[in-house]
Amino acid sequence: MEGCIFCKIASGEVQGLRVFEDEQTLAFMDIAKDVDGHILVIPKKHVKSILDCDSETLFAVAHTMKTVSNHLTENCGYEGVNLLNASGERAGQSVQHLHIHIIPRKRGDGIDAWPKFNGAKEDLKEIYARVKL
Ligand code: 5GP
Ligand code: ZN
Repeated sequence: MEGCIFCKIASGEVQGLRVFEDEQTLAFMDIAKDVDGHILVIPKKHVKSILDCDSETLFAVAHTMKTVSNHLTENCGYEGVNLLNASGERAGQSVQHLHIHIIPRKRGDGIDAWPKFNGAKEDLKEIYARVKL
């Protein structure tokens, strides 16, 4: 999509540090410098988020997520990964092209990758009745 930075990285128009790619997906280094080894996995075609992603593309993204995660833990000295995703601006998505963050983890790395929640305010059973499929 015109103007989308991740489409430009996928096509090669903008340089990215490409960790792994296949026909449908790309994994590349995040530029944030917030944590060592921060990697993003994207579909090469423009999809806004998981909320409007077709199943085949989502499967391809998940497969690459696993390939890269296994590589990090089997060959790169990491012991686990956190996989993070924001879908929708209200959820904190800042780039409107589907991406999964891979945060590689090691014992003693001091990273707290789990969000601090504010505490539930609604009754559990009322929410359950609303969200149950
Ligand atoms: P979000 O907040 O949407 O979940 O994450 C967007 C991520 O994209 C951020 O971690 C940000 O650092 C990364 N990002 C934004 N622009 C670029 C860019 O031009 N190149 C790379 N490699 N990462 C980017
Ligand atoms: Zn895009």
